Amino acid sequence: MNSEKIPGLYIHIPFCLSKCLYCDFYSSTSISAVPDFLNGLFKEMEMYLNQFNPFDTVYIGGGTPSLLSSKQLENILIKARKNFDLISDAEITIEANPADLNRSFLESIREIGINRINIGVQSFDEKALNFLGRRHSVRQAFSSVEASRKAGFKNMGLDLIYGIPGQDMESWRDTLKQALVFSPEHLSCYQLTLEAKTPLGIRHRKGEFSVPVEALQLEYFTKTSELLEDAGYIHYEVSNFARGHEHTSRHNQKYWDHSPFLGLGPSAHSFQGNQRWWNRRSLDRYLAAVHEGKRPVEDTEILTMEQLRLEALYLGLRTKKGIALEDFKTRYHFDLFAEKKEILTKLVEEGLISIRGDQLVPTQSGFALADRLSLI
Ligand code: SF4
Repeated sequence: MNSEKIPGLYIHIPFCLSKCLYCDFYSSTSISAVPDFLNGLFKEMEMYLNQFNPFDTVYIGGGTPSLLSSKQLENILIKARKNFDLISDAEITIEANPADLNRSFLESIREIGINRINIGVQSFDEKALNFLGRRHSVRQAFSSVEASRKAGFKNMGLDLIYGIPGQDMESWRDTLKQALVFSPEHLSCYQLTLEAKTPLGIRHRKGEFSVPVEALQLEYFTKTSELLEDAGYIHYEVSNFARGHEHTSRHNQKYWDHSPFLGLGPSAHSFQGNQRWWNRRSLDRYLAAVHEGKRPVEDTEILTMEQLRLEALYLGLRTKKGIALEDFKTRYHFDLFAEKKEILTKLVEEGLISIRGDQLVPTQSGFALADRLSLI
């Protein structure tokens, strides 16, 4: 059902020098295992020969891919090109920690074909960085962004977090304004989420600090959107902003519109047709499987048409372009307008969605409540 869509390739680098206090992603701090991991990754690539159409995106995420040397990253891309077809203007992104970036590393990774960098700045406030347990400083955030520009990165994204205890609207605004000084092509602004098993999640449960109440979260969301739209950015997904349509993330779009994607590395998820599968969330168990010649898949889920339809609704209403009703009918065998006419009319009256021709789109107020909208 998604055979016409172009797939993306995700590669999970499961290493971090230290764990941030809010992080729930899989990564290990045993950096000495990088060479073993790379051998395993190259074996895993071979297990998917001819299984996907040519990729137009490669996203090297993690974890902290910027811990790898430029030579190791080059080998990953060489092996990816050997095992898969990458179209000639593929978007090739690396996630990076500001502490790892210097001009010569950045120039080397540009030379091997990485054309987009996403830097995990998170905040330009030292206190907020300390609270989050980030290993970089504000000074390093500045210098990493400047060095990326000097190294020739013309497609740069910054990740930022709001709703950090101790932060107020004023300091968040300062972080946003500071980010705008660099005119990044892309900004991701996430609200801090406290996952139960993380150190911050545990401290929060013990009552050591509080987080913004819902009304304040909404205010952060709205003010962020206003400030960035005034600065010329398109708020194209609940948490994502682009300086022009050409700078929206081609790769992330695949997660939102049911395009196929192949995820390699421990804990990586993949999606194709109506199947989703995910890899073992442990480097040792991942390597044990690939060395036995088996795909390191933890589990697979076959999605029913009903599940796909609900996901498409949930994801579509988190994007500015919303849902194309005819396309939705064709793909998910469901006439949204005919079947849900009553509730859609109510949401239009409440100013949460609008219907423009064939397109069902969230309004600005609806965007802020996107998770609830998807319950229609
Ligand atoms: S650097 Fe990223 S992946 Fe690593 S611990 Fe911090 S947030 Fe998690």
